[in-house]
Amino acid sequence: MAEFSIIDTYFNRQHGSSVDLGVGDDSAVLTPPPQQQLVICADTLVAGRHFPLDTDPHAIGWKSVAVNLSDIAAMGAKPHSILLALSLPQIDHDWLKAFSQGLYDCCDQFGVRLIGGDTTQSPHLTLSVTALGWIDTGQAITRAGAQLGDYICVSGTVGDAAFGLKHPGHALQQRLDYPTPRCELGQQLKGLASSMIDVSDGLAQDLGHILKASKVGATLDLDLLPLSDTLRHLPDTQRWQYALAGGDDYELCFSISPQHFEQLLQQPLNVRVTKIGQIHAAPELHFVQNGVDHSLQFQGYQHFA
Ligand code: ADP
Ligand code: MG
Repeated sequence: MAEFSIIDTYFNRQHGSSVDLGVGDDSAVLTPPPQQQLVICADTLVAGRHFPLDTDPHAIGWKSVAVNLSDIAAMGAKPHSILLALSLPQIDHDWLKAFSQGLYDCCDQFGVRLIGGDTTQSPHLTLSVTALGWIDTGQAITRAGAQLGDYICVSGTVGDAAFGLKHPGHALQQRLDYPTPRCELGQQLKGLASSMIDVSDGLAQDLGHILKASKVGATLDLDLLPLSDTLRHLPDTQRWQYALAGGDDYELCFSISPQHFEQLLQQPLNVRVTKIGQIHAAPELHFVQNGVDHSLQFQGYQHFA
């Protein structure tokens, strides 16, 4: 009884016309748009591990959706819907109300519906969200397409969430608790970016995944890293630590040819895009500042995440 009343009370809002059958039956039913491929991903958040136990449940709801929409965006796809697998130690109505509100707030902001899931009791609060999206057949942007001479770009600013984690109560904690998936930019990059990843484990490590998959190297210019005012005023080493190794940014990092970069900048963008480096042949990640090689000091950064 409890399980069904939780689903009905908190997770059974209207689905909208693009869902044939949503919450309430054994499975959801969707009609794929013509000439589109399904893009699908899942992410699990465990209380006490991925977020502190006392985190605002509204933020947990938002973030559990946002991190998945970020993965959909990183393929260049349009997010469509999510499923929620929820394991709860006990029924706490205040918590469920705020959590579901945060979840639906993120869904509403990005035009996504909750179409199903699972609700169970377990000793640990665990949330697993599966997100579905659509992309024109053959157009998904993988990690493997970076080409020699491509620019490397990143959206927004990097390192803010990591700073927020270390400084609870600071305004930048908002970037940790309420990440903004770059859904619109991701779709604008379809046909333009040659490879893409969303930055969840730190820029250096995540860019490393692109380089490995694409079998190329890159040089990043430390002077070009897009930083918030707070980070810009920190000493160099701290600033770069947050920007390169801090997690939870949920910005998009992508490679793009110089011609396509010009085309991108001619479109209206709802987030800043910054060129931070370039792809080259040697299979390493180099860092330069003022044209001087800083690689030695920063090699270890991949391991801090
Ligand atoms: P079954 O036993 O057939 O797996 P359930 O009783 O688990 O079905 O779920 C009933 C319906 O409620 C299904 O449509 C399922 O997708 C949905 N559902 C269950 N838990 C959630 C949840 N946390 N959020 C959204 N939908 C849910
Ligand atoms: Mg069933």
